Amino acid sequence: MNRLWVRFALVISGILVLAMILPFITAIQFEMSPELSSELESVLRALPAEQRAELRAQVETAIRFFFSRSLILAAGAGALAGVILSWTLLAPLQELTRGAEAIAARDLAHRVRVRGSRELRAVAESFNHMAGRLEQAEGLRRQLLADVAHELRNPLHVLRGNLQAIFDGVYPLNQTEVSRLLDQTDHLTRLVNDLHELALAEARQLPLDRRPTDLGALVKESASGFAPLAAAEGISLRVELLGAPPTVDVDADRIRQTVHNLLANALRHTPRGGNVLVSVGRRDGAAEVVVRDSGEGIAPEHLPQVFDRFFRGDDARDREHGGAGLGLAIVKAIVENHGGAVSVASDGRKRGSTFTVTLPVVVSRSVGQ
Ligand code: ADP
Repeated sequence: MNRLWVRFALVISGILVLAMILPFITAIQFEMSPELSSELESVLRALPAEQRAELRAQVETAIRFFFSRSLILAAGAGALAGVILSWTLLAPLQELTRGAEAIAARDLAHRVRVRGSRELRAVAESFNHMAGRLEQAEGLRRQLLADVAHELRNPLHVLRGNLQAIFDGVYPLNQTEVSRLLDQTDHLTRLVNDLHELALAEARQLPLDRRPTDLGALVKESASGFAPLAAAEGISLRVELLGAPPTVDVDADRIRQTVHNLLANALRHTPRGGNVLVSVGRRDGAAEVVVRDSGEGIAPEHLPQVFDRFFRGDDARDREHGGAGLGLAIVKAIVENHGGAVSVASDGRKRGSTFTVTLPVVVSRSVGQ
């Protein structure tokens, strides 16, 4: 009774049987009407008794035969209609069930056929859309795992190699060697911290200690930390404030980290004699920090990828001290956690890059006023 096709068969047969019985009931009532009965009686009475009995018997047999045949036909047709109806309904549902089982068994490439009524087609389309998103997320997860493993493997290899060399007496156990090992562990620690930070930020779980902050002062302070490096590299580093410095409601440490990453990149990708200009101002009611450099620039095909985790340009890949390709992903995640946005523009290779961060201005007065 629990199977859909049995239920359909019973319901449709019942309807058909009723449809067959109703005319009979009406016919019986019609036959029972006094005028008709008396007329029939008078006709029958005109016949000889023997013929009358025979006629009655023949009529009764005909009615019984017609009635039972109609019942069998109605039940048969109902059952058939029930089976066909349930089959057209059940087949797509069964396919969806199989699809769900396949997805549960991690066959994420599985898709169902879109067919049947409009409602069933909508369910199948939603199912396929969901499966597609799951497949994409799984691909990203695998890629992330592979990238993390790759990034961790290199410093671990170096660390192990150096330790082995010291153990075998190939390298002496002196301060230079120990400091090299410390550098490697620092690199690993930075990588793990960055990944942790990024995971929190992307899940929108980064704890933010928001306070009204003078963005101009924050940027100036960050830039001053880079002044010695810029001087040593022969790069001109300037900060300009366009109008009254905007006050933003942010976690100052996180925004400092954002500016730090952008400045570190600008200096890293700008050759000696180049310049880096940071401007702080407002645009369309939002606070804006623009970091512009005259450095190596970014190829147009790489522009959409620079904020991706582990993305590194070709030059950066070859560099011994290049980052892991997490800096800009962290910038983007932090800025978005503050309700802001970050974008990049470059006229191409060797033509400099411009990174723009916008943050909502929550407090319009300056800090301390
Ligand atoms: P990394 O920490 O390896 O520098 P990022 O996420 O900060 O990683 O940057 C990703 C890539 O974007 C870099 O490898 C580089 O190719 C490119 N990039 C970032 N900033 C600049 C810049 N100012 N000029 C040119 N290329 C840049």
